[in-house]
Amino acid sequence: MAELSNAVDIANAVRNGSVSAVAVLDQYLARIDARESSIHAFNLVTREQARSMAAKVDADVKAGRDPGPLAGVPIALKDNMCTRGVPTTCSSRILDGWKPPYDATVVTRLAEAGAVFVGKTNLDEFAMGSSTENSAFGVTYNPHDTSRVSGGSSGGSAAAVAAGFAAASLGSDTGGSIRQPAALCGVVGVKPTYGTVSRYGLVAFASSLDQIGPFTVDVRDAAVLLEAMSGHDPLDSTSIPQPALSLQASLDRDVKGLRIGRITDLPGGSDSEVEARLAESFDALAAAGATIVDVELPSMKYGLTAYYLIAPAEASSNLARYDGVRYGLRVDAADTNAMYMATRAAGFGDEVKRRIMLGTYALSAGYYDAYYGKALKVRRLISDDFARAYQKADVLLTPTSPIVAFPVGAKVDDPLSMYLCDVFTIPTNLAGHPAMSVPFGTGAHGLPVGVQVLAPTLGESVMFQVAAHLERVAPGGAK
Ligand code: GLN
Repeated sequence: MAELSNAVDIANAVRNGSVSAVAVLDQYLARIDARESSIHAFNLVTREQARSMAAKVDADVKAGRDPGPLAGVPIALKDNMCTRGVPTTCSSRILDGWKPPYDATVVTRLAEAGAVFVGKTNLDEFAMGSSTENSAFGVTYNPHDTSRVSGGSSGGSAAAVAAGFAAASLGSDTGGSIRQPAALCGVVGVKPTYGTVSRYGLVAFASSLDQIGPFTVDVRDAAVLLEAMSGHDPLDSTSIPQPALSLQASLDRDVKGLRIGRITDLPGGSDSEVEARLAESFDALAAAGATIVDVELPSMKYGLTAYYLIAPAEASSNLARYDGVRYGLRVDAADTNAMYMATRAAGFGDEVKRRIMLGTYALSAGYYDAYYGKALKVRRLISDDFARAYQKADVLLTPTSPIVAFPVGAKVDDPLSMYLCDVFTIPTNLAGHPAMSVPFGTGAHGLPVGVQVLAPTLGESVMFQVAAHLERVAPGGAK
């Protein structure tokens, strides 16, 4: 794989005039032209828009105006984020032909920071999946081995960065959809604290769990993107009223004295090489003067079950709006009810239908307390477990994914084994905490392994501090 440039270096070079944003863009478009047909990271490459954004950045530099911290950085957007006048499909047929009338807040903020948008990336339909095989538009292949999946649901965004089609990208993470594909594609992926990045203009899957975050080639870039995207947004009622995060100062802080939690009752079943990389990451932190402490999270093993009641319940409600009247696809039929049914039958794929049925069932009158209500109680127990663990530890480490990238088709007929890909990522979404995946060596078949760093609410600084250290000591050499 080619050496990838990072966003900070690109922005610095563009800002000081040593390279033009248009020249940078041309390099990225050339890589897309060379390899996109074998990766399929994008639903749409927005060449013309990218060119005009890059030209504007260059004009600013020429006129002595600073375009911002992401000047000329080619960035790809997951195709569930609204872009004004540019199709936003969620990789679903049901949004056929729909063009949002507004930009998501993250899109506005990155554009204001000087970013250049290169396209909209492929995902599992409505972000439901762990392999990007649930897209209505075909699979995204892993740039490290194109017979394998890129992970999901933000597989296109992860693959775009790993393949050098974009210097960074955005994904959304409801149960692991940033961190798991980041791990499988060997890039950095961050799910911030719930409420840190505005969800305005992110097409909702499960509103109490969804967060937007970055994919980048290194930890510093992720910090810079998050600084640009975060901060209160009055357009999102769950946005935390606080200024943007400030993270770069923590990157060079040494980890001496930090307490790193090892979860003693972590669900098993990971690849042995994944477990070996995790053990090495603990050793590396201990060698740098951190203290490893054992913690227990007894409710973590119920996380997946609770998630598969809560997330589908919210999805069944959120997806009720796609009725053939207001957005995208309409299949005409004899009367309105028949039109709804024909549109939804044709517009949604199997996994989305499965989730809508699961969610509707979990919320139905006779079962609400037994399923949805119970799941909310488990959610609370998981939060309590984390609260106890964070009295003893500053951060926790787990594998991001129990396994490396798997072959395309290997899990499509077995939803449960697909769901298990997120066993280590889902609990943080239920708690609303931040977590990130950092590449840490390789596992089976020489494929990338990610270590997950978890932190308490608004613990992004210490999370980045530890992640930056792991990146410096990762097997295979420092960046
Ligand atoms: N893979 C999980 C699911 O299918 C998580 C998806 C996500 O985070 N959007 O629901």
